[in-house]
Amino acid sequence: MKPINIYEPSLGEEELNAIKEVFDSNWLGYGRNGTKQDEFVKKFASKIISETNPWGYAYANPSRFTTISCCSEALFQAMHAFIKAGDEVIMPSISFVAAANAVVAKKATPVFCDVNRYTLNPTVNDIERCITKKTSAVIVLHYAGVPCDIEGIQRLCSQHNIRLIEDNASSPFSRVYTKNTGTFGDIGLWSFDPMKIISTGDGGMIYCKDETILQQIKYRTYLGLKSSGASNPVDQKWWEFDVESPGSKATMNDLSAAIGLEQLKKVDEFLSTRKLVHTAYDNELKDLNWLTTPPLISNHITSSYYMYYIQTKNALDRNRLARYLRDRGIYTTFRYYPLHLVKYYNSKAKLSNAEWAANHTLNLPLHQSLSQKDVSHIIKSIKEFKR
Ligand SMILES: *Cc1c(COP(=O)(O)O)cnc(C)c1O
Repeated sequence: MKPINIYEPSLGEEELNAIKEVFDSNWLGYGRNGTKQDEFVKKFASKIISETNPWGYAYANPSRFTTISCCSEALFQAMHAFIKAGDEVIMPSISFVAAANAVVAKKATPVFCDVNRYTLNPTVNDIERCITKKTSAVIVLHYAGVPCDIEGIQRLCSQHNIRLIEDNASSPFSRVYTKNTGTFGDIGLWSFDPMKIISTGDGGMIYCKDETILQQIKYRTYLGLKSSGASNPVDQKWWEFDVESPGSKATMNDLSAAIGLEQLKKVDEFLSTRKLVHTAYDNELKDLNWLTTPPLISNHITSSYYMYYIQTKNALDRNRLARYLRDRGIYTTFRYYPLHLVKYYNSKAKLSNAEWAANHTLNLPLHQSLSQKDVSHIIKSIKEFKR
């Protein structure tokens, strides 16, 4: 049997043909109007519900989105837009490393909060406990694709006049009732790296409610250029330009956008396959007395089924099981290693739930290319570990 990856992109003929079309068009780079880029933003927006009220719901306005080179860069851009040096930014310790780096790069302080040990998401209380006069923003993610208490956290942030940033990389199509995660906070960030549910090679998406801020992000991710080339209003000398801000270049190219368009056509199928695998793990593993499966997902919640995890009752079992499965060609891991334990950030926090989770949790393979045979092999191996 060939080794089973924990994550895996699903790319095929359709994506290859889409790339060929981009080659033929001779437009490979970044462009706004009428490009693959532009089309990708519109199609993406048409999958995201951002407004809900008792009478109905509405899909997000494409003018509130922009593509970006990756989600890590989006975190840096979000910090640039919303915080200043000396501020404190609260995030769960179980966060992606780029979130803390983005805060430190801005000469601000990441403040790591605890999480619920079974969901690995922070509660409103976990965050509230860390609020000080210096707190200017909160960065949350939705662990494994299951939304955190984003409505409660949103209320807390608005009471304290704190910005809310949603790292939506692990929950690209998750919902609370009908509203998509990524649209609750001031800004929502998506990733399309090779480990994510849809992949464009590398790439990301930003949703920002304030279109002025979004425009500034567009400047800052494209050299700060106000206008240039064919779009330059300068009548004769189109090579002249003006700069709005000292921007770098962190745009997505049209090859990635073309791949993304194909991935979007397949994503509903991806999500239902992932749900099937998730359910199979739940059903087959829930009765093993030496581990627990994740809490049931409530009816009003839609998960993206990004990760599946088990939690062993004994920490030694987790480490032994990881090695046992690897010897059988099954790769597992733990995401995300608690940032308060990373020396560089010099945190004094003691976060017992995050630490417990880090010692007992194991992420199992979950992606849309897993065959039934793969899944049975994984389940059987886990059952045999303790026999
Ligand atoms: C993968 C991931 C990122 C980073 O995304 P890139 O596009 O690879 O930069 C950020 N946050 C979370 C939660 C992730 O899982």
